Amino acid sequence: MTRKNPPSPELIERFAAIVGASHALRSPDDQAPYLTEWRRLYHGRTPLVLRPGSIDEVAKILSLASESDTSIVPQGGNTGLVGGQVPDESGAEILVSLARLDRIREVDAEGYTLTAEAGVTLAGVQAAADEADRLFPLSLASEGSCTIGGNISTNAGGTGVLAYGNTRDLVLGLEVVLASGEIWNGLRRLRKDNTGYDLKNLFIGAEGTLGIVTAAVLKLHPKPVGREVAIAAVESPADAVALFDRVKAAAGGAVVAFELIGRRGLEFVLAHAPGNRDPMATPHPWYVLVEIASGQSREEARTLLEAALGEAIEAGLATDAVVAESLDQAAAFWRLRHMISEVQLHEGGSVKHDIAVPIAAIPAFVEEATRAVETLIPGARTVPFGHLGDGNLHFNVSQPVGADKAAYLARWEEINAVVHAIVRDHGGSISAEHGIGRLKRDLVASVRDPVELSMMRQVKRMLDPKGILNPGRVLIHPDD
Ligand code: FAD
Repeated sequence: MTRKNPPSPELIERFAAIVGASHALRSPDDQAPYLTEWRRLYHGRTPLVLRPGSIDEVAKILSLASESDTSIVPQGGNTGLVGGQVPDESGAEILVSLARLDRIREVDAEGYTLTAEAGVTLAGVQAAADEADRLFPLSLASEGSCTIGGNISTNAGGTGVLAYGNTRDLVLGLEVVLASGEIWNGLRRLRKDNTGYDLKNLFIGAEGTLGIVTAAVLKLHPKPVGREVAIAAVESPADAVALFDRVKAAAGGAVVAFELIGRRGLEFVLAHAPGNRDPMATPHPWYVLVEIASGQSREEARTLLEAALGEAIEAGLATDAVVAESLDQAAAFWRLRHMISEVQLHEGGSVKHDIAVPIAAIPAFVEEATRAVETLIPGARTVPFGHLGDGNLHFNVSQPVGADKAAYLARWEEINAVVHAIVRDHGGSISAEHGIGRLKRDLVASVRDPVELSMMRQVKRMLDPKGILNPGRVLIHPDD
């Protein structure tokens, strides 16, 4: 068991000496940005924020942590939405920031791979790929701050999953420091390798509970020549699903994003994010943002998109559509979608759900969950949006106008319970892409098969026998 008493002053000095005084942060001001997260749900305490500058330093930190039973919380860009990267309130957990491991080690354009250290931001990886005339297709609204190590540890999804898969599908090899301090060099660049268990997949999505990812070999893709973006208005989620079907039938693998936007989410953006404009002259209850890519030309992408949307309007599935006339307008359309997460902060308390259901079940889920939430809390304002093409919606619920924020947020679990019950009825997932962390930890046992849970606990015990890595995240305790 890890200690929950703060490490002794002598132990703190030993940890600090590994990275040097200037990278062992002790003052509240220096530590502050690491101790609270984006949604302001978790505020932690720590005796030390360590910023190692090499893999060897990470290894020495974990070796000492193992020897002294000290809990370690790995952190990348601190954009995680389930509290896994923030130390708890005990003041006993040491935070290890990977931000200084920020080198692109290699770009192999011919082999379509890129090797990056864990602390490179996602935007940094995208830019390095772009410079080599390649595409790294993972894309999230947080890409300027989140790190590739964090993306791997959360198996991040985002807006490119439809065409390119989630992070798991984009990783060929990993370098990981184990809880013992041993360094596993699994930086393979192979597309085919059936030489036993695929261990890298254990660390992808493990949220820092099984090891610290220090570098990765990532898969690159050809850069599309043409990309076209449109927003279409639809009457209902059912029409959005039917439209998705039609666009897929017309454009196949060229459809790279298909995002649902409810009118309320769009109104929040227009109210709180200056510089954004309503995409259409009159309001519509629902919208979809569609992006089509072509390996041949912009014209091909545009022809495909216009034909698919034209047919959809004729068939009565869409009531209006606007195709972006320029890259700036395409970026403006994407901004409307990306800002929805952020602007909810301005509307008081917001209770989050990151759910997945089979795509065909999305209309029923939205209808049933909206009814259930509005019955539970009259005046609660649902804000469904997200990756319809992956069956993944962010079904957030803003407080009634004028309600007391703290009293509303105190009902978080109650609201989750009614929404998650509907997710389960539809055979869905209560965490499609954000992970479990601390926020959903107590729900894991109710959504995973007992045999699965037992295997998860055994894996944790084997790789982290002393439970020093991110204790209390994902699993309550491997022995519980
Ligand atoms: P952190 O927040 O620092 O850490 C996340 C978890 O990974 C923690 O448990 C931490 O302990 C662990 N960890 C971090 N680095 C390492 C490492 N090197 N080794 C081992 N463990 C590590 N997520 C999506 O999937 N899709 C989205 O569309 C999306 N949109 C977002 C939009 C906004 C505005 C924001 C704020 C967040 C969004 N997220 C989304 C969530 C978040 O950006 C992702 O989870 C991201 O992958 C986290 O990366 P990070 O570097 O910030 O990790």
